Amino acid sequence: MSDWEDEYGEDEGAISEPSVVHKATSKATSNTNIRNEYFGGKRGGKVEREGPQWRNWRERDREVKSPVERPASNRALTLNLDNSLIGRVIGRGGATIRELEQSSGARIKINRGEHEGEVLIFGNSDVQQKANHLIKELIGTGRASEPRLHYGSKSSGSKSDSCWSESAPQASAVSPSTSIDWKAIRENRGKYEALKWKDLPPLKKNFYIESDSVAKRSTDEVRAWRKENNNIFVDDLKEEVKREIPNPVYTFEEAFACYPEIMENIIRVGFQKPTPIQSQAWPVILSGLDLIGIAQTGTGKTLSYLLPGFIHMDLQSVPRDKRGGPGMLVLTPTRELALQIETECNKYSYKGFKCICVYGGGDRRAQIKIVTSGVDIVIATPGRLNDLQMNELINLRSITYLVLDEADRMLDMGFEPQIMKIILDIRPDRQTVMTSATWPTGVRRLAKSYLKDPMMVYVGTLDLAAVDTVQQTVLVVQEEEKKAYIFDFIQNMEPEDKVLIFVGKKIVADDLSSDLCLRGIAVQSLHGDREQCDREEALQDFKDGRVRILVATDLASRGLDVHDISHVFNFDFPRNIEEYVHRVGRTGRAGRSGVSVTLVTREDWKLAGELIHILERAGQEVPEELVLMAERYDKHQKEKEMFPAQSRGGRAQRGARDRFRGGSHRRF
Ligand code: ADP
Ligand code: MG
Repeated sequence: MSDWEDEYGEDEGAISEPSVVHKATSKATSNTNIRNEYFGGKRGGKVEREGPQWRNWRERDREVKSPVERPASNRALTLNLDNSLIGRVIGRGGATIRELEQSSGARIKINRGEHEGEVLIFGNSDVQQKANHLIKELIGTGRASEPRLHYGSKSSGSKSDSCWSESAPQASAVSPSTSIDWKAIRENRGKYEALKWKDLPPLKKNFYIESDSVAKRSTDEVRAWRKENNNIFVDDLKEEVKREIPNPVYTFEEAFACYPEIMENIIRVGFQKPTPIQSQAWPVILSGLDLIGIAQTGTGKTLSYLLPGFIHMDLQSVPRDKRGGPGMLVLTPTRELALQIETECNKYSYKGFKCICVYGGGDRRAQIKIVTSGVDIVIATPGRLNDLQMNELINLRSITYLVLDEADRMLDMGFEPQIMKIILDIRPDRQTVMTSATWPTGVRRLAKSYLKDPMMVYVGTLDLAAVDTVQQTVLVVQEEEKKAYIFDFIQNMEPEDKVLIFVGKKIVADDLSSDLCLRGIAVQSLHGDREQCDREEALQDFKDGRVRILVATDLASRGLDVHDISHVFNFDFPRNIEEYVHRVGRTGRAGRSGVSVTLVTREDWKLAGELIHILERAGQEVPEELVLMAERYDKHQKEKEMFPAQSRGGRAQRGARDRFRGGSHRRF
């Protein structure tokens, strides 16, 4: 199963249905009156695998640990216990197992027999030993219980007004059920941590030499510049004493004058000046601080972490070939993004750094071979990397620069447990950069757990960034009219146009693309049921312009960078408004303008209000039907609140209520 299907499962339904039947009151639109005008005024508007470096760190760790059961690598460590003790390990509703798994990073399974059972501990030897030790602590004591384990570096504390305030670590709220001596466990955990990170080479992080021109900038000038540049806001999230926030750089020289090879690369690719996120992120990251970068898609976030990362890796005191593994790890949600970041990395080919992409669906053997043959940068999806990590095929101990790219997306895709396990194996004093296009609670929690006293740079507002370089058209239509709209749109495409068509389900992607093929139109499709090589080919064909129409599921909605997409066509409305913003962001990239067309049906009424909000903020026209739809939805919600019993009632009850009010279709 691919990482993408993990998210969507069997049911890739776009939007939940409204609970009423209704008659569309949108303007009846026939094929003939669909004209190009509403599609917008065009775009006007080297490490040896078996060598001593590779193995030594694990052997050394084993030596210092207590002589407990030695599992063969790659196999479960088994503890046989009688059933009463097994019960303790499980805890109420599995709560203790979950705590043990989280605490150790291992996966634990129970096989119960009549009188006794087995506790199977999976994972690399490190985490197995840790879990084994915790279980022994647990079953060997019977003292006071304590309700919570807090992960991460900060305690949840009381609610404050800081950017963290909505990020109470709910994940740690597990009910107390067994008598666990948490104090002892915590102390032992501390001991393990100390042993685990003993003998690490020292880490250098600060490589920033502020140029005179940057240092001279006055507070007022900097404030005005931030405002002009998409309202950049920078915040120091260190609690207690706040640090000075570095001034932005306006030019590439101001950031990298001391690093001529970086400058050569920038000149070679021909960029004129840093994007706003780069201007403000580079001084922060080069100073060695952790950073959270929030900015809409297509604003150059990749380069904002890659270039300082190159310098960081290059200037460590231990030479690259003596570190025993890669120095930079970039975690990213999808294979396509991983490949794109790899391309970006290779484009700059800094000092011959070798990078590798590790993702589910790719050739695992080939990936392992490369990983174990010595690389500097690993770009990975969390699922596959966790798999290699659990099987001791990758050494994360050498990582000093960690990037969580598109963190919001990784959370949406359910990667949090894998991320957590991966990070447990990375030295705690590393430098960490996290990027995201949005700042929801989950991302705050992730940031709070894995970043240390970060600075935050966000471009635009903390809310959804409305894509303002895209002319957005919304059409309220009926489901059965959709195909007519898309065919008409395609017929009216200009030769230089390139359209990305988003659909809600894989099957619709297949259906629509075969319909188009049958009409002799060259089209490619991209979704999670396609083989990886077909997905890569589809994307390449689209990038190179061999096809100018790509039909895709939300697999393509984030981060993908195809410069010349002129139109985004939302055939199905996305399942949430964030996805809408990401989809629309596929056009209007890197300062260009673009056009989006979105079909909205009565099924999508739930999101009408939020869509209006986005359109208004981006100064776009809001169709009246959409306003009416949002009003009807609000009214419906209010009715539900006023008559909760009826709204929970079955079909018969609802039918009676609707008849009483003059019929359900009054709503639409
Ligand atoms: P994001 O991660 O924010 O969605 P990307 O990092 O993928 O955006 O960048 C989008 C595109 O902009 C890429 O093709 C990248 O090469 C280009 N780009 C990055 N920095 C600059 C710059 N300073 N000037 C012009 N283009 C840039
Ligand atoms: Mg990106």
